[in-house]
Amino acid sequence: MAQLSDDCFAFGGQLLSVDAAAALIAERIPPIEGLERVALAQAHGRVLAGGLVARTPLPPFFNSAVDGYAFAHASLGAEATRLPLAGRLAAGDAARPLPPGTAMRVLTGAPMPEGADTVMMQEDAVLEGDALLLPPGLKRGANCRPAGEDVPQGAEALPAGALLTAPEIGLAAALGFAVLDCRRPVRVGVFSTGNELASPGQPLGPAQTYDSNRFTLMAMLARLPVVVTDLGILPDREDATRAALAAAACDHDVLITSGGVSAGEEDHVRAAIESFGSLVFWRLAVKPGRPAALGVVGGTPVLGLPGNPVAAVVCFLHLARPLILRLAGAIEQPLPRFPVPAGFHHRKKAGRREYLRVRIEPGPVAQRFEREGAGLLTSLTQSHAFCELPEEMTQLEPGTLVQVLPFAAIF
Ligand code: AMP
Ligand code: MG
Repeated sequence: MAQLSDDCFAFGGQLLSVDAAAALIAERIPPIEGLERVALAQAHGRVLAGGLVARTPLPPFFNSAVDGYAFAHASLGAEATRLPLAGRLAAGDAARPLPPGTAMRVLTGAPMPEGADTVMMQEDAVLEGDALLLPPGLKRGANCRPAGEDVPQGAEALPAGALLTAPEIGLAAALGFAVLDCRRPVRVGVFSTGNELASPGQPLGPAQTYDSNRFTLMAMLARLPVVVTDLGILPDREDATRAALAAAACDHDVLITSGGVSAGEEDHVRAAIESFGSLVFWRLAVKPGRPAALGVVGGTPVLGLPGNPVAAVVCFLHLARPLILRLAGAIEQPLPRFPVPAGFHHRKKAGRREYLRVRIEPGPVAQRFEREGAGLLTSLTQSHAFCELPEEMTQLEPGTLVQVLPFAAIF
């Protein structure tokens, strides 16, 4: 495995913009090595190692796109033309020649009879006894699909680094691939930190709260090309944090923690990274989000996400997601954003990017979730999207177009 040197990020500053963090990740993180042959039915969510070249054209042969009647366009006259019907071809039948001056019944997916180049749809066809009546002015090539119209033989159907989701899997299947060369998944270890945390299913002690981040983050990781190890909850102790990170760094490609990364005396993640690795940055100019840390220990990147649940999600999207996609060798996948008019006023500080939770209401218009707070999990379950307010913005008026990141595309 190619290891990151601890000083691979020559970045001096501390508070980093979201874009600078993304650029740092894009420039400095090399993909992990290792390929696997993966059966198509298991390949969902994996990353294609090399370009997928079509060994056959798609579709493989010239065929009818509809149920109808095939004929040679050249046999049409200036006036209405009457072509006697000669035979029938269904899907799966071998192509036959079209007797000159005739039309042939064809069903969807059937090969075009040799000599035919156009199909009249059944719904539009006028039959007179055993003959087809064709008006003048029909378009040559209508209602049929040439071989290779989707993918010509020899063309690259999918690029190296393609993330295999349903459409890519379908295309690979259509091209006859039963097995795909994929990159191996990224091994991600996930920790929570905090003396106050209890695992769901355990009794809740006094002053304890259930650990939600580990489960939110593992659910978000399920969209990425990873194998996840649930590494549980770390106590707020620097020695324990250091030992756990050191042990986990050996057999993971990236470690993700949440909590314990601010500047309080019970925040030990940053100190643990610094004590035996190196810190790249530890504050991100984003709300909710700051603080978040990126470091390298034993050649393995460690991402310290904030403890507050919504902040952890925002930082996951901007740090963990691009970092993992880079490690996985995947083509960059920008977060999907759509412009929607805002339905509310808002003031913000310049110099940091802000994410508000919004509902998309008819209009469409983005309406803000009523309550603030980076700890409110219902602000996510009861909203539809993040509304992204750029660094330079200080004031938002109703009607202004804002970019929204729909939850359906990120969760
Ligand atoms: P910290 O950054 O560790 O000070 O955490 C900030 C806030 O997030 C605190 O109120 C923590 O209790 C809360 N928090 C930290 N980790 C988690 C977690 N895994 N699940 C739920 N809440 C958490
Ligand atoms: Mg904590």
